[in-house]
Amino acid sequence: MRLKNKVAVVTGAGSGIGKEIARLFVREGARVVIADHNQERADEVAKELGTERAIGIAVDVTDEAQVEACFAKTVALLGQVDILVSNAGIQSVAPIEEFDFGKWRQLLAVHLDGAFLTTRAALRHMHALGRGGSIIYMGSVHSKEASVLKAPYVTAKHGLIGLAKVVAKEAGKRGVRVNVVCPGFVRTPLVDKQIPQQARELGISEQEVIRNVMLKETVDGEFTTVEDVAETTLFLASFGSNALTGQSVVVSHGWHMQ
Ligand code: NAD
Repeated sequence: MRLKNKVAVVTGAGSGIGKEIARLFVREGARVVIADHNQERADEVAKELGTERAIGIAVDVTDEAQVEACFAKTVALLGQVDILVSNAGIQSVAPIEEFDFGKWRQLLAVHLDGAFLTTRAALRHMHALGRGGSIIYMGSVHSKEASVLKAPYVTAKHGLIGLAKVVAKEAGKRGVRVNVVCPGFVRTPLVDKQIPQQARELGISEQEVIRNVMLKETVDGEFTTVEDVAETTLFLASFGSNALTGQSVVVSHGWHMQ
């Protein structure tokens, strides 16, 4: 029970990695807000995890008022907020000279505006409650390296590392730790959608995208799993002191080695 008496807000927890983090956090004793712009999915996940431990709150992380309302509701219903996992994300792939400006802006908004708005709201409550806390951003191996076709994603994921370092410095004296988890490729809807898109753009088969683009650089040709990412997030969320802050932890079967 590494998160006993803790309250966590996990954005994008209606699917994939966020859902598994919510599941593990509940198992470790936390009460968890499933914060997702898809209300139906957020409620479904909360029901699946048990409504006494999990609640679904519909929130678009790019909308300032909705994010403020989500955290106000969290504190009103659960009394506190100790952990933020800023995980909501989207993907869009195209060569940069063909990249649609609207899609570029949307991707940066979900990853970066979302991280900023949720961090600001969480910190205000954490500081007011005076219990410290832990903030974790869902980065990627693309926080460390580039891939073709992913200009806004790589830009946003690198940006999260900068944000984490600033917030770690600003909030450390008040007991708030800030870290980034950087997964390799994980089979979630976000990745499944980009396999045919990458195959089309690169003129190769879907099998080749998996073998030669997604897993070629791993030590064993394996996908990272949602469980691997959730365990790493739990480790950072439950770490007991400011000794571990401002860091990024790569969990990728060696796709990227620091
Ligand atoms: P996913 O598509 O399974 O889940 C993403 C969730 O985010 C969905 O439930 C979606 O409804 C929610 N979401 C999207 N936009 C939102 C918004 N504006 N407001 C609130 N919620 C929103 O994807 P996933 O693979 O689980 O990705 C989760 C995070 O992990 C993302 O930040 C992604 O970049 C990161 N990541 C994924 C992989 C991978 O290989 N799957 C690798 C590294 C990092």
